[in-house]
Amino acid sequence: SSELERAESLIAAVPDHPSPGIVFRDLTPLFADAEAFATVVDAIAAPFAGRFDVVAGLEARGFLLAGAVALRTGTAVVPIRKAGKLPRETVAESYELEYGSATIEVHREDVPPGARVLIVDDVLATGGTLAAALRIGERLEWEVVGCGVILELDHLAGRSALGSEVVSLFRA
Ligand code: 5GP
Repeated sequence: SSELERAESLIAAVPDHPSPGIVFRDLTPLFADAEAFATVVDAIAAPFAGRFDVVAGLEARGFLLAGAVALRTGTAVVPIRKAGKLPRETVAESYELEYGSATIEVHREDVPPGARVLIVDDVLATGGTLAAALRIGERLEWEVVGCGVILELDHLAGRSALGSEVVSLFRA
């Protein structure tokens, strides 16, 4: 739609961030536009309509999406956080970065086993983050209905690392 096209046009490509040779896709101008934000929130929810009861969002930009998708769809929201932030018992998974590794975690008791969960984030790059989130979901016995992202970076083939339905609104 033309609304989605306008939203896509608000994504800024920032060369050499955070390091030389990387083109960082900055979605804050899209989030900062009320209509574009509403358009992407609704477009992420639409393919999964009626199939989820909880939206799990990845720290930090995924939080902005997850809360909005949850409110628009009458569902609940859960944060998937970087290690060390959540105060109660968690399930954690680590994944490799270019240099070193990262760990994300979820409160063990926030979501009951069998809950129908949609996982959302702003950008799918290598897929390492979403793959770790899916492993957490498996360990917690979530019924993950899929993953929704605004932008998928095609050349990194992150989708192939994910054994789940992945919907991306835009590709770059
Ligand atoms: P992956 O684990 O798929 O390699 O990386 C995805 C994670 O890194 C997401 O949480 C996403 O927010 C962040 N990320 C990676 N590349 C970009 C980018 O170009 N722009 C933005 N906004 N986030 C990125």
